[in-house]
Amino acid sequence: MSSNFFGPDFQALQGQDPEIAAILISELDRQRQNLQLIASENFTSSAVLAALGSTLSNKYAEGYPGKRYYGGCEEVDKAEVIGVARAKELFGAEHANLQPHSGASANVAVYQAFAKPGDTVLAMSLPHGGHLTHGSKVNFSGKWFNVESYGVRQADELIDYGELLETAKRVRPKMICSGATAYPRLIDFKRIREICDEVGAIMWVDAAHFIGLVAGKAIPSPVPYADVVSFTTHKVLRGPRGGMILSKAAHAAAIDKAIFPGMQGGPIMSAVAAKAVALKECQQSSYQAYAKQVIENAKALASALESEGMRAVSGGTDTHLALIDIRGTGMNGKVADERCGRSGITLNKNAIPFDPESPAVASGIRVGTPAVTTQGMGVEQMPIIGNLIARAIRDGEDEGKCAQIRSEVHALTAKFPVYPG
Ligand SMILES: *Cc1c(COP(=O)(O)O)cnc(C)c1O
Repeated sequence: MSSNFFGPDFQALQGQDPEIAAILISELDRQRQNLQLIASENFTSSAVLAALGSTLSNKYAEGYPGKRYYGGCEEVDKAEVIGVARAKELFGAEHANLQPHSGASANVAVYQAFAKPGDTVLAMSLPHGGHLTHGSKVNFSGKWFNVESYGVRQADELIDYGELLETAKRVRPKMICSGATAYPRLIDFKRIREICDEVGAIMWVDAAHFIGLVAGKAIPSPVPYADVVSFTTHKVLRGPRGGMILSKAAHAAAIDKAIFPGMQGGPIMSAVAAKAVALKECQQSSYQAYAKQVIENAKALASALESEGMRAVSGGTDTHLALIDIRGTGMNGKVADERCGRSGITLNKNAIPFDPESPAVASGIRVGTPAVTTQGMGVEQMPIIGNLIARAIRDGEDEGKCAQIRSEVHALTAKFPVYPG
């Protein structure tokens, strides 16, 4: 355990607030020792963490570069200008906004830019993998908008574009959202564009999960087709926790106004600078190799779990995540999640399409490979991980067996050190 990873300022924190300093150390240990298989998590670089932990955090910069409401923005302006230019270049986008505090905040801005309360929006159904901001009744989206949904076909668990078109013609949405939190397959953005054009809807892609794969040129990009693409910067993209929006030039003013003054005050300039750092990392060929490896690993992990008697929803994956129907093990998602947690394997329970269980119990788990791939694991490690997961689910009730699995997990992660030094 090396406390010097945090740099010289960490000593000041330790002196002043040992309670919080100890948590930073034990969380670093947790991240290093356990297997991190949450599909939406990653290990960001030390360079990104340095920008995040910088004095840019002190600066108020309401507005946009050159048009701020406060003085003293010359330096932070440069960081935002560089970040916006990098985003436009990396994604071939006409406009980029780096200020959203999170993926959910970016989505609030998209609704605000293109719809009025009460308007109809069409998005992926939550039980089939959509996000809370795609119309959940407990979320602003479901409270303030009339969100209709489309889903996957029962037969092959793929998006039913025919049903999507029929629903779009019936409900005439202002906007159609594609993108999800638990859909392992590629989305046909050309097809979605055609459907949007047929009904005169704005094409919104919530690319939070897979944008990093697009950045690494490992999967096709929605940017040429979409009016607007919102996403998080901390998932496969491996940047700081935060959000971003890309759009066509025609929508630039609407997006910028929706973020500020529409729904945010001052941007978190340390995070904006950290996004710029992450975007530069994404331009490197090593990142492109990483993005391809993430997908290879996810495919290998899905097939490893299949050989352990579980079923990959839709038969596999084209992305960084797999949704696994674990009913073959006799366990439900809730039990599997708890048992894996006790065994040092961090993943999440997840509903599968047409799940007979409630979302709190669920029949599946979701696994993702962004973090283990950043650690340097490859396809050779995936059968080992698949076996550890299967044993944790089967035997995780027994504390002795749990401890054995935990020690094997720690032996594996020790070979792939996170934040070494
Ligand atoms: C993760 C995610 C979000 C939300 O991101 P936060 O930063 O947690 O607010 C939104 N949409 C989708 C599809 C996501 O996967």
